[in-house]
This record gives sequence, C-alpha cells and structure tokens, in this order.
Amino acid sequence: TVRWGLIGASTIARQFMIDAIRAQADGEISAVMSSSPERATAYARENGIPLAVSTLDGLIGTDIDAVYISTTNELHLEQALAAIKAGKHVLCEKPLALTGADARKMVAAAKAAGVVLGTNHHLRNAGAHRAMREAIAVGRIGKPIAARVFHSVYLPENLQGWRITRPEAGGGVVLDITVHDADTLRFVLGDDPVEISAFAQTAGMAGGGLEDGAMCIWRFKSGVIAQSHEGFTTKFADTGFEVHGSEGSLIAKNVMTQKPVGSVTLRTAKGEEELSFDREDLYARSLRQFHAAIRGEGQPSATGEDGVWSLTAAEAALQSARTGKTVEINPKL
Ligand code: NDP
Repeated sequence: TVRWGLIGASTIARQFMIDAIRAQADGEISAVMSSSPERATAYARENGIPLAVSTLDGLIGTDIDAVYISTTNELHLEQALAAIKAGKHVLCEKPLALTGADARKMVAAAKAAGVVLGTNHHLRNAGAHRAMREAIAVGRIGKPIAARVFHSVYLPENLQGWRITRPEAGGGVVLDITVHDADTLRFVLGDDPVEISAFAQTAGMAGGGLEDGAMCIWRFKSGVIAQSHEGFTTKFADTGFEVHGSEGSLIAKNVMTQKPVGSVTLRTAKGEEELSFDREDLYARSLRQFHAAIRGEGQPSATGEDGVWSLTAAEAALQSARTGKTVEINPKL
C-alpha cells in the first residue's frame, strides 16, 4: 500500500486527485494538511480522510509513504524539501517552484535522498497527446515543421483567487498554463525548446501586475517552431493542439483539458483519419505511473526534471514579455 499525505486542502485534490489515488488498488489517503485547523478538519470530513493536521511537521511525522503537494506555488519548494528530507516520495503540482533554480534544488534533493519526485503535468497522461506523440514518432506526419497550441480558457469563478491577485504566490497565466504547454509540446514533439518570445497582456481579470493572457513563439532543437496561446479571460474559445509535418498534419480538438475527451485527426495525402485513443482518467494514470515508479518500475509520467524544463520555459516567457527580447531556455540539468 502507498499511504498518501495531502499537503494543501485544494480544489484540484478535491476534484481529481483524491479519486485518482483511491482508484489505485494500493492507494490510500492517510492525512490532509491545511494551514488552517478548521479547514483541515472540514476538508478531512468532507473527503473521508482519517487525519487532519495543520502543520507540515505534523503531516510529515505521520505514517505516510508519499505526499501530494497542491498548495499555492510559492509553498511547493519548502514543503517538497521537508518531505524529501523525511524520506517521502513527492508528487508536486506545477509549477514545481517559482524559479527553475529552486526546482533544480528539489530534483537534486530527491536524487540524493533516493525518493521519487514527479510533476503533476496531467496532459502527458491524456490518450490524445499520447496518440499524437506516437504518430509523430513513427513518422506518420513525416518531418515535423510547426506546432500550434490553443490553451486559452475562462478561469472559473471559484478559481478567481490567488491566480489573478497574488504575484507572490506565483499567480499569472504563464506559471499556471504556459508550463503545461511547455511540457505538452516537449512530450508530443519528443523535442526540447531552445528559445522563446512572448507577449503578455492584462485583459481585465488579473490585478497586481499579473498577466491573464499570453502568446508565445517557441523554437525547438530540431528546428520546429511553435506558437501557444494561454489565457484566463476568453469565454468562448476552443482548445486544441496541432502539429504540421512534411507528410501530414495532426489536428487535435478540445484536448487541453483535465478530462479524457477531444479528438485527434490525421490529415495526409490519403485524406483524413480519426485516431482512436485511450480514454483513461488523466490523473488516475498519473498516479498509476507514480506508484510503479515507487516500486522501481520506470518513472513518473512527468519527472522532476520535466518540471524544471516547464518552469524554466515559463520563466523565460515572462522575461521575454517583460523585456521584449527573445530568451534562451536552458534548464541547466
Ligand atoms: P486552491 O486555491 O483550491 O488551493 C490552494 C490553497 O488555497 C490551498 O492549499 C488552501 O490552503 C487555500 N485555500 C483553498 N480554499 C480556500 C478557502 N476557501 N479559503 C482560504 N484558503 C483556501 O488551488 P488549486 O487547487 O486551484 O491549485 C493548487 C495547485 O495545484 C497549484 O499549484 C496549481 O498550479 C495546481 N493545479 C494543477 C492542476 C493540474 O491539472 N495539474 C489543475 C489545477 C491546479 P490550505 O491548504 O492551507 O488550506
């Protein structure tokens, strides 16, 4: 059995991760930590979690094997380092930290302690993205030339909190969504980005100098160029992911989401073909891979290093938006 402690009484844990842990035959949730004792108790009661604690030491000191960190972003570093020090495996939400340098510290600490560190980039677990990666890897679109990511959404009212008001908590659409696009582009293309140029905007939702919309242009090692659009304020936009190659195009619709939905079309000289793909819950699959990694079988679907990559890319995007210059992406791994 893998006994989990939840660090953070969050929405994402309540909506997806508690179920994903319990979907594993060997997954159990032992405790939840909130900074507020009242919230911890209420959250534990509502979600059938046996123990509620309100300090990090209190959580880490209980009989658990792994922690899932889904607090606001400025807290991930300290919480992950403490858990790693206590010998716990760590599945941490994105962004791993506020800077790539801090995320590298987490990776180094986990390596030294011999524990598993994963980043919860759920989209790698989507059947749609795995089908696209596979199609590209076996050459179905020939040589990849360019990619387009449509990931501008409307931030639901219940989440219109720290993301749009608190820069010190790591708010803003780039740390929230561009990190996912960075990771998904790397995963689908099987390639790493080398530089980025970004424009950011404040389109009426975010305050405190935070951006609530961004458009990025990326160059990858192989020469592929990509564009991505992330936003909190577009109520009527679709999401999608396209990769265009010398022999074909992959056109995926409604796939930048938390659910195993959407479609992937392969278009070539022969016409159009709808690719079929696995519809397993994204978060349940992430947990399954993480449990396997704990047993020494492979790696989490997104590793700590993948989290360093996505955060380094997001940091570069923010720097580019601020300076008006193209910025190198170097994760220093
Ligand atoms: P929430 O705002 O729901 O929770 C974050 C923190 O806010 C909690 O840890 C909690 O603190 C505090 N909080 C929650 N509700 C209340 C409340 N009613 N009053 C006061 N404080 C409250 O965040 P999300 O679940 O949206 O995001 C958490 C993390 O997960 C972030 O790092 C985010 O980037 C990531 N995320 C990842 C997703 C993915 O698909 N990979 C999707 C969504 C989020 P405390 O624990 O101290 O009670």
